[in-house]
Amino acid sequence: MLAHERSREIFGQARELMPGGVNSPVRAFGAVGGEPVVMARGRGSHIWDVDGNEYIDYVGSWGPLVLGHAHPAVVDVLQKAAARGTSFGALTELEVELARLVCAAVPSIERVRFVNSGTEAAMSALRLARAFTGRDKILKFEGCYHGHADGLLARAGSGVATLGLPDSAGVPASYAAETLLAPYNDAGAVERVFAAHGRGIAAVIIEPVAANMGVVLPEPGYLRFLREITERHGTLLIFDEVITGFRLSLGGAQMYFGVVPDLTCLGKIIGGGLPVGAYGGRADVMALVAPEGAMYQAGTLSGNPMAMAAGIVTLRLLSNEGMYRGLDAMGAALAEGLREAARQAEAAVVVTQLGSMLTVFFVEEAPRDYASAKRADAVRYGRFFGAMLEAGVSLPPSQFEAWFVSLAHQQADFERTLESAEAALRA
Ligand SMILES: *Cc1c(COP(=O)(O)O)cnc(C)c1O
Repeated sequence: MLAHERSREIFGQARELMPGGVNSPVRAFGAVGGEPVVMARGRGSHIWDVDGNEYIDYVGSWGPLVLGHAHPAVVDVLQKAAARGTSFGALTELEVELARLVCAAVPSIERVRFVNSGTEAAMSALRLARAFTGRDKILKFEGCYHGHADGLLARAGSGVATLGLPDSAGVPASYAAETLLAPYNDAGAVERVFAAHGRGIAAVIIEPVAANMGVVLPEPGYLRFLREITERHGTLLIFDEVITGFRLSLGGAQMYFGVVPDLTCLGKIIGGGLPVGAYGGRADVMALVAPEGAMYQAGTLSGNPMAMAAGIVTLRLLSNEGMYRGLDAMGAALAEGLREAARQAEAAVVVTQLGSMLTVFFVEEAPRDYASAKRADAVRYGRFFGAMLEAGVSLPPSQFEAWFVSLAHQQADFERTLESAEAALRA
């Protein structure tokens, strides 16, 4: 058994000082049982806890670390940026540079605004869509997560699903009523919502590949269907690419599938491991953002030079030839290896995967929406998670999250992961 004394001691103190001992709910390991491991450092594809145990990491800070932990180029620009001053609250050249990279890479983004988190990006994009259309209602999909803003926590998958909360307390019913819901991958349901509310819907917001109910792929033609029906009703289509942005391709899922939304939310990878989000899109819509337009949105640390510097170096490295081919091949090989491990162990699991994101679902059939994802046996996942952790492999502490492969993962990591997975699935 790995020793976890120091983790236990620190978590004990944390619990007295912070709700649940953490600053984001899923980190508390509530969904998998046991106590959280307290992390100390990371390098490449590996992380070490405060007791000195080493793990192969597939959490990747929940998505941002596509280059792996403490990438030397990222560390270098951060040290240099810190020495020049950590924040000015004024325009810097770095913001222009990252904005240029983002606008060049993401098909829908003509102009962009940087914020500090994915939550802020989604919240602001929706406010903007309401300002532009003069309508109040939004349509979101069950099991999609768009951050924790009021009105976005209805059937929000992920941490919310993990904790078994239907919604969040503290959201006014009148406000939640502006959020309409449809099951993922269900065109008929969307048609019915538009038939009932068509002229009142400001925006449809979706994760173009769902990753917060575990990885669930859009069925062929679904995103194109959403593009068409929103266009027909004067509704804006928003892709929340906080996870898929710069992960499925440099231009995100919209480039991967060839469907261009009106607005896009970014986060995670765009900050290279620092807190950054962004929203952007059509120039005529973005013209409504203050100070150019009447939609107010601001941030003391927005466009922070440290965060911009980490984002720039990350995007530059990702734009090198062949990066995504390599990343996608690793994701596909890991998924296929896990399927083979499950066959060998005679375990009923389904591995869903696209590019470098995947989920091992303890179900019989690949989920296509929230209801079918929720059929997964989270208790068995919890046991699998525990066995893998003990074997030195760090997985997301919830059935309903994505594993992330980074460019730092090595063949030896995968071999050890697959050996451990077969043994864990057998047990
Ligand atoms: C993580 C995530 C968010 C929220 O981003 P934060 O930086 O955690 O606020 C929004 N949308 C999606 C799809 C996400 O995965």
